[in-house]
Amino acid sequence: MYQKKGEDKLFENVEEIEASLTKYIVYGTHLNMDGKIVYDGEEPIDIDIVLKTIKGEEQEINIDYEETKDGYSFSTSDKINEGINLEELSCNKKYVFLRFEYGKKKVKYYSIRNDTEFSDVEYYTISKDNTNKRVNVGFDIHSSEEKSTNYMYINVNKARLPKDVYDIVIDPGHGGSDPGAQNGGYNEADLTLEFAKKVKTELENLGLKVLITRDGTETEENYGVNTVYDEDGRVNLVGKSRAKYVISIHLNSIDEPNSENGTEVYTAPNINFELAKAFASNIVKYGNTNYSTLEATYRKEKGVYARTFKNWEIEESKEEAKKGNYEPYNITENTPYLYMIRETGGIATEAYIDGRNKSIGKNNYFDSNIGLEAYLLELGYINNEKDLNNLIKNQDGYVKGIVETVKENILVTK
Ligand SMILES: [Zn+2]
Repeated sequence: MYQKKGEDKLFENVEEIEASLTKYIVYGTHLNMDGKIVYDGEEPIDIDIVLKTIKGEEQEINIDYEETKDGYSFSTSDKINEGINLEELSCNKKYVFLRFEYGKKKVKYYSIRNDTEFSDVEYYTISKDNTNKRVNVGFDIHSSEEKSTNYMYINVNKARLPKDVYDIVIDPGHGGSDPGAQNGGYNEADLTLEFAKKVKTELENLGLKVLITRDGTETEENYGVNTVYDEDGRVNLVGKSRAKYVISIHLNSIDEPNSENGTEVYTAPNINFELAKAFASNIVKYGNTNYSTLEATYRKEKGVYARTFKNWEIEESKEEAKKGNYEPYNITENTPYLYMIRETGGIATEAYIDGRNKSIGKNNYFDSNIGLEAYLLELGYINNEKDLNNLIKNQDGYVKGIVETVKENILVTK
């Protein structure tokens, strides 16, 4: 009853205008929203999003906004891994309002309705000190005697991590019938499994709940490139985990042996690259190696690459669709090329394996608005003698580079 009274009071000063979400995603640890506001009132000097509690606490979220012909458009960020950090929210119910400022302390609050096809989101924070929080993002209607108002909220509570929810997924590349790249009696699948198992153990020692996509028990008959999109294939396993990050470990190879060397970190093009940069620099530092020598138009930073589809590859995909007698996929030149980056991010990374091509299966999470922040680490070139030697002799160094990055960037609350 008290709560109702508090809420009535909160909504006394809230008006409902035509403010609605047009995009609503959770990628990694961040809630990111775009929206539009139909408005022709007094011109504000600033517009923010605020998270308000019934106790009157108010947390300000900066947004980008611009005038449109009938009001404003707004965005928490144009980078999918920015926006509202769900890891850092305190436990209580927060009402998400737009706050218009009109000069000296004059403000107005407006509620936001949901115009997207997505409904409530349930999110679990990363395990820290053996505790987790459950974050529910949702939409509701507040009704009082005077009016009823559509609004958005974020409810944060302490919770135990459910059995099937993980913090991080580690994906050793290839496996089963697919050995990956090979050189000098070594193959990528075996080596990435060694790295991945070590990383998993180290992360578990830090208190994280880690899912590994394969553990070496898979066989040539039941595992390989053709099982990627199976119901329990690596893509669907990752989606089902509801983890926040997926780290895929690979070794590189190039046609002409020894022509390139060093570490490449692959990620989506439309993100803030800070974590990708941290992976690259820590692997270089602790792995005692160097940033990749590979020069490419899609190199974003030293050691950081965001490979997307090229025009001819899009055309090729259309041709394949024609031959396979299915509607072509909607691929753009911003669509990540590597499936572990693209298909694990849902709509945020333009996942598209929706089952229309019957011969390869389906990503059950292709149209999800919740996705994992994905990094694919090409630790070094298996057919570069210097790299291969280092990858065998200095495994613990590479592992430390990966683990330190998680420790310094993911486990630390900034
Ligand atoms: Zn590989």
